[in-house]
Amino acid sequence: MTGEPIGGQRRAVVVGAGIAGLTAAIALRQRGWQVEVLERATAVGPAGSGLSLWPNGLRGLDTIGAGTAVREQALSATEAGMRDTSGRWLARTDIAAVRDRYGDLVMIHRTELFDILRGTLGAGALRLGAAVRAVDITGNGVRVQHSLGTSDADLVLGADGINSTVRELHWPGAPGPIYAGYTAWRAIVTPRAPVRSGGETLGRGERFGIAPLRDGRVYFYGSANLPADAISPDGELTELRRRFGDWHDPIPALLDATDPAALLRHDIYELPRIAGYARGRIALLGDAAHAMTPNLGQGANLAIEDAITLAALLDRHRDIPSALTEYDRIRRARVEPLQRLSRRMGVALQVSPAPAVLLRDVILRLTPPSVALRGLAPALTWEPPR
Ligand SMILES: Cc1cc2nc3c(=O)[nH]c(=O)nc-3n(C[C@H](O)[C@H](O)[C@H](O)COP(=O)(O)OP(=O)(O)OC[C@H]3O[C@@H](n4cnc5c(N)ncnc54)[C@H](O)[C@@H]3O)c2cc1C
Repeated sequence: MTGEPIGGQRRAVVVGAGIAGLTAAIALRQRGWQVEVLERATAVGPAGSGLSLWPNGLRGLDTIGAGTAVREQALSATEAGMRDTSGRWLARTDIAAVRDRYGDLVMIHRTELFDILRGTLGAGALRLGAAVRAVDITGNGVRVQHSLGTSDADLVLGADGINSTVRELHWPGAPGPIYAGYTAWRAIVTPRAPVRSGGETLGRGERFGIAPLRDGRVYFYGSANLPADAISPDGELTELRRRFGDWHDPIPALLDATDPAALLRHDIYELPRIAGYARGRIALLGDAAHAMTPNLGQGANLAIEDAITLAALLDRHRDIPSALTEYDRIRRARVEPLQRLSRRMGVALQVSPAPAVLLRDVILRLTPPSVALRGLAPALTWEPPR
């Protein structure tokens, strides 16, 4: 049955209170839906790391009224590009030109973004400690079983991340995440001397990225080609010092300012293409649908786009399955090329044999900034549906 409640309030269960789930929940609530967000963790918001929000993601946040607060909490990107390990620029991004052509781009502390999203969502929708175990189609809706009980809905959104339970339950046989071949460390530090310049430094099979945040804090990440689950016998900070300790300033100072307990490390996985982001009254959003390598810095931005698009389509269509069918068509056409581009960038940027590194660096030096600027268009020109 596809007919929707006449006059009654439509009900959605959102599985997962990440960026995708919270954005979707806000967008639906603002349209009068009754929304329940089921989050298995007992607290929302990841530990310290930063996040790049690009013009496309910020435009999405603007539609739910969160864009202004995000811009206030974030630091506008000032400098970007790629350097070699001695600090010489291989390629520079003209941030002013990016802003003029495509719109604002900012770096924000993830915790602060979560605070804003939770505040925008308002009280009464989020249920923490609710791990979803089963999602069953019933005669006229969907029943969700979780650790706090049972919830009935007209629509279920699986925004439960790369290892999505909703995907496992309703996309049987879909391939699981695959390891990209490299691991990443992340931290937010407050160095003694201010750091105003950001960008990424490329080595051989290793990279180090710097992104200043507000209030003198700096987000950094390092990546290295390693087998999955590789152990750092002397601890992660020692491993970082060994790999990056003699790279250009301010990298050693950032490592000196790092609290080993606050250093995150995650092996990088991505999700192979799955057959559709929607089935009946169930849709996947964000990493649950299309987790990608972080090389484009777009995973969260695309999760925001998913949520905004889906909510707009639910306005436009009389019945939920039709809205979800269109969501699937629009979002796969949008996301899959960017997922492939991010994968290819990872291969090029993590390259390790010396001749290949030399070639990569020459190509970067010779690529005119105007070409690089145009290359950003497919990701950054997205507009929210009217
Ligand atoms: C190293 C690294 C750097 C990155 N940098 C950037 C960047 O700069 N910019 C950018 O745009 N993207 C970046 N990304 C990608 C970005 O972090 C993700 O794409 C984004 O966070 C995905 O959000 P999500 O809401 O889809 O999933 P998640 O953030 O994974 O949220 C899923 C939520 O679902 C919950 N959950 C899971 N299972 C259940 C269940 N059974 N029941 C209830 N709840 C459940 C989880 O606890 C979690 O809270 C980066 C990723 C990595 C790994």
